[in-house]
Amino acid sequence: MALERTLSIIKPDGVKRNLIGKIFTRFEESGLKVAAVKRVTLTRAQAEGFYAVHRERPFFASLVEYMTSGPVVISVLEGEGAIAKNREIMGATDPKKAAPGTIRALFAESIEANTVHGSDAPETAAFETRYFFNAFELL
Ligand code: GDP
Repeated sequence: MALERTLSIIKPDGVKRNLIGKIFTRFEESGLKVAAVKRVTLTRAQAEGFYAVHRERPFFASLVEYMTSGPVVISVLEGEGAIAKNREIMGATDPKKAAPGTIRALFAESIEANTVHGSDAPETAAFETRYFFNAFELL
């Protein structure tokens, strides 16, 4: 399996409930390294640009509102097969369908406030990583 980098976001509901440490522990105990990290409050434009692929979805406005409602912790995770591994640790989008023991099964409040984001493919991981981190931060 290849060494990969993937983008992770601890969403506003996770930061608000003081879950940063618990979530990073799960990444680290699964063999992923936190290769870069920042805590920011997204602007509307940043959130809209990040979720541009969902622009036509009925929940887009609500999703942007939610993602700008408080600080988030954005990180780059690195490891063997990091993209799929992170998706596995996160669990399904809808916490009701997330496998037991996954972050979303344990912590998510709803299908929208589902605590974490993770890139779903190599192309999105490359786009999303560069969206939030510059070359110096990714050294
Ligand atoms: P992900 O890759 O598992 O995060 O899921 P998607 O790419 O399909 O959706 C992006 C984000 O939009 C999700 O993580 C949720 O925060 C939100 N979302 C997805 N589906 C719904 C929905 O049906 N309703 C609402 N309100 N939000 C949703």
